[in-house]
Amino acid sequence: MEPVADDEFIYLDNNATTPLDPAVIEEMLPFLTRYYGNPSSGYAFAAKARKAVELARERLAALLRCEPSEIIFTSGGTESSNAVIHSAVQFEPRGKHLVISSVEHSAVLRPCQDLEKRGCHVTFLDVDRDGNVDVGQVEAAIRPETALVSIMWANNETGVLFPVQRIAEICHRKGVLFHTDAVQAIGKIPIRLRDTAVNFLSLSAHKFHGPKGVGALYVNRRTRFTPLVAGGGQENGRRGGTENAAGIVGLGKAAELAGKHLTEGKCSVRSMRDRFEKALLETVNGALVNGAGAERIPNTSSLAFEGIESSAALLLLDRHRICCSAGSACRTGSQEASHVLRAMNPKGDGARRSLRFSFSRFNTEAQIDHATEIVPKVIEKLRQMSVPAPVATAL
Ligand SMILES: *Cc1c(COP(=O)(O)O)cnc(C)c1O
Repeated sequence: MEPVADDEFIYLDNNATTPLDPAVIEEMLPFLTRYYGNPSSGYAFAAKARKAVELARERLAALLRCEPSEIIFTSGGTESSNAVIHSAVQFEPRGKHLVISSVEHSAVLRPCQDLEKRGCHVTFLDVDRDGNVDVGQVEAAIRPETALVSIMWANNETGVLFPVQRIAEICHRKGVLFHTDAVQAIGKIPIRLRDTAVNFLSLSAHKFHGPKGVGALYVNRRTRFTPLVAGGGQENGRRGGTENAAGIVGLGKAAELAGKHLTEGKCSVRSMRDRFEKALLETVNGALVNGAGAERIPNTSSLAFEGIESSAALLLLDRHRICCSAGSACRTGSQEASHVLRAMNPKGDGARRSLRFSFSRFNTEAQIDHATEIVPKVIEKLRQMSVPAPVATAL
């Protein structure tokens, strides 16, 4: 069954958010209607909700290959990352240094910038033209007083994958905590936390066909953690507040489905992305792939087009009912060019000429056909518009 989609729109912005899988909705509904008990209540009526929350924890642990007890449910990716940064800084008595990449999502960037204003030191690691971080640079940036290294698993704008397992090893060797914002990696690549030295991992349900406003934080069982949201004893005392039972149930179901799609190895998303990208590179002159030389998640295509402004392209594409983005959704409206693309090429203007298309298993081949037809036309039109009209010469 397909999500209830508005047929009018071609949704190619799945890194901003994804449609709910109908099977997720079905599993959530009873917890919005019949089983409204507070999961923490002691009577039998609430046990239904409590058990459902624990099943979701097991399903997510199975996807991540970790222990259910290592999962804390949160309100989303942003809260999870904030919680890690908050906790790491609390525990490091000298701890006034953090290492992050310069292409992190604002969920990591902003709390680090705020800490900087309060006297912490933050090292922002550069990336190369393909968006890669250098593992040697990460190692060199670590100081005795480093409280945390945080490097995302996959970049939301370019899809570039970072060598987080190797970075985690280095941090482990140096006795420094390591966190990864894996919001864009979940459901797109296999993850086996049991085999890694990762201390913390953040994820969000709405990026893999679950509901918005719910996410999780993995905390390795041997890693110290102090809550950001203090309150009741929920989540084993690690995150206060009544559990978002329906949301957590939805996250669990979405995790189960993501695992199924990963192991069944249906690479329809990768083949759609590749087909779309190839078609655009062939039909549009002066187009290139941001992060082309790096390993990337299979659903993302970030393309720079010579001679266009991405904001103008977005307007025209919107008129053609194609949803995509320039940079990340969280920045739209800020008029600020993508910090990720600027970090990859500080002297170039690729950040103002790029569009991000991100696909999901709910896109159809027909939609890809349509988009490969419309996008080149839009680019061509924009280029014509930007050529100054010939000045009529006086006789
Ligand atoms: C979407 C996203 C987030 C934020 O997750 P929310 O659940 O929306 O708070 C964080 N990091 C990355 C890489 C993302 O793509």
